[in-house]
Amino acid sequence: MQKIIVFTIGTIVGSFLALVAERVPENRSIIFPASYCTSCKTKLHPIDLIPVWSQLFQRSKCRYCGKHFSYTMIFTELICGFTFCLYFPFYLEPQVTINFILTLTAITLSLTDYYYYLVEPRILYASGLLMITLTLIFRTIHYPYFLTAIVMWAALRFLDHLLPNSLGLGDRKLLIIWSCFLSFYQILWIVFIGSIAGTFFFILQHRFSSANTKDLLPFVPFLSIGLFITLWFPLYF
Ligand SMILES: [Zn+2]
Repeated sequence: MQKIIVFTIGTIVGSFLALVAERVPENRSIIFPASYCTSCKTKLHPIDLIPVWSQLFQRSKCRYCGKHFSYTMIFTELICGFTFCLYFPFYLEPQVTINFILTLTAITLSLTDYYYYLVEPRILYASGLLMITLTLIFRTIHYPYFLTAIVMWAALRFLDHLLPNSLGLGDRKLLIIWSCFLSFYQILWIVFIGSIAGTFFFILQHRFSSANTKDLLPFVPFLSIGLFITLWFPLYF
């Protein structure tokens, strides 16, 4: 029962984070207007906004005009629900709290990168500030991690010099901020797994989709896969 409650809270948070990712890059308020169908502009009622269930029962379609909703929302809600269950009841252990925030930030920034090819700086900086504040409160600052951040900054500068624009500025900032809270070993694994997953997806996309496929690839979702694997299976990383 406890897990169901935690999962439900996770799906509600997931729904909110999806809204933040959709609205903040466009400078739209995250409070007003209330959620509405982008096709028929009808304001959605509470029954239409129950995380996961509304989309399941309505088969991901608008109840008023029949327009198909993106599966991104239900996917985000489910991922957040599982994330809350995975981290429960360890939220109050300092490094776990940081890992939890890193995971939620990764989910939100994956969405902004997917929607707009943008690592929304306000979300990234806010999460960095929150994590720095928590490490100060918990008194768990790992100074070697800041060395990781400096090494990562230098390595990414060198990469940009060697292969200009191979990695977006937002992706680089994200990796440097994450480096402040993770070991060098973890960061290397995240970049490695993210690159392998991204390359694999890129090849599949070109192999199976139409000629209109964009060459631009949002990289944060793949870095996030690297982050999830590295954090959820710490024994191996
Ligand atoms: Zn509609």
